Amino acid sequence: MRPRILLLTTGGTIASLPTGAGLAPGLAGEELARLLPHGVTDAYEITIHDILHLDSSNIQPEEWQTIARQVFAQRDAYDGIVITHGTDTMAYTASVLSFMLRGIPIPVVLTGAQLPMTHPLSDGMENLRTALAMAASRVAGVFLAFDRKVILGCRAVKTRTTDFDAFESVNWPLAANVDGKGLQIHPAAIPNLSGACALRDRLCDKVFLIKLTPGLDPEIFDMLLQMHYRGIVIEAFGAGGLHFVRRDLIAKLQAAAQAGMTVVVCSQCLYEPSDFSLYEVGQRALEQGVIQGRDMTTEAAVTKLMWVLGQTGDREIIRDYMERSLAGEMA
Ligand code: ASP
Repeated sequence: MRPRILLLTTGGTIASLPTGAGLAPGLAGEELARLLPHGVTDAYEITIHDILHLDSSNIQPEEWQTIARQVFAQRDAYDGIVITHGTDTMAYTASVLSFMLRGIPIPVVLTGAQLPMTHPLSDGMENLRTALAMAASRVAGVFLAFDRKVILGCRAVKTRTTDFDAFESVNWPLAANVDGKGLQIHPAAIPNLSGACALRDRLCDKVFLIKLTPGLDPEIFDMLLQMHYRGIVIEAFGAGGLHFVRRDLIAKLQAAAQAGMTVVVCSQCLYEPSDFSLYEVGQRALEQGVIQGRDMTTEAAVTKLMWVLGQTGDREIIRDYMERSLAGEMA
C-alpha cells in the first residue's frame, strides 16, 4: 500500500503567482500537485486540503492554531502530513507546532520554496519531494524540509533570503538528508517524545522580543508592562550580558519580575549556547530571576514562551517548562 499523505497548503512563494502588486499566493494545492512528476505522485496516495492562502508574513498565532487543529484532527487518517508554507515565518510555525502538537505520532513536515512552483527553475519540486519522503518515513515529530535537508522543527532558522539553502539546523544535527542513498534519517537527532499526543493550542500573544543594542533605554520595560505584555525574550550580548552602567536594565528586570512578567534571556549569536553565569553582566540578570534560553533559537524561545504562558500562569510551572526540553529545542 502506498503511504497516505495529507498535503495541507497555506500559501507562500511556492504557491505564488505574479500580480500587479507583487507575488501573492494564488495556486491551489491541486495545481501544485499537478506540477509534480508522476514518479513522485505515483509513490504516494496524496489528499489535498487548502487551509490558508497567505504570504507567511501574515501567518500569526490564530493561523498557527488553525494549522495545529487541522493536523491534530487528521493525525490518525494519514501516515504523514506535509504543510506548504511561506519561508519567511516557517521556522516560527515549525517551532510552535512542535509545542502545540507535542507527541504527534506521525511525521509533520513543513516545506516551501524560494521560487514559485510555476517558475522553470523553482526549488519547490525538490523541497516537496524531500518533504513527502520524510512524511512517509514513519519518523514521528515536526520537521522542516528544505534543500534536501530535514531539520527538527524547533531547531530551524531561516538564514538566507534568496539562496535555495535557506534554512539551518541551529545547535543540532540534521534530522535527515537526501543523497545518493535516498532519505538518510539520523536517529540521534530525533528526540524521543514519549507520551500521548494532546492538542495544546492555547497561546499567549503578549510576548515581546528585544534585540539588545548598546545603550537601550531601560524604560522600554515600563512601556511593555503598560501594554500588558506577559513575557519578554531578550537577545542579549555574546555568551550572556546586559548593561547596567548608566542605563540600568537590571533594575528594570527586577521591576518586570515583580509585576509578574517572565523574562527569558538568550544570545544574539546564532550558534552555541549562552551562559549568563559566566560574566557579572549576566549573573546580575540571573539574580533577578530571568530564565536562560541556553541553546534555543530565538524562534523556539519566543514560541515556547507564547505556548507556555498560554498553558499556565503558575510561575513555578512556567520556569519548569522553560528550563527543560519539551520537543528537542534545548540540548
Ligand atoms: N514572502 C514569502 C512568504 O513567506 C516568502 C516565501 O515563501 O519564500 O510567504
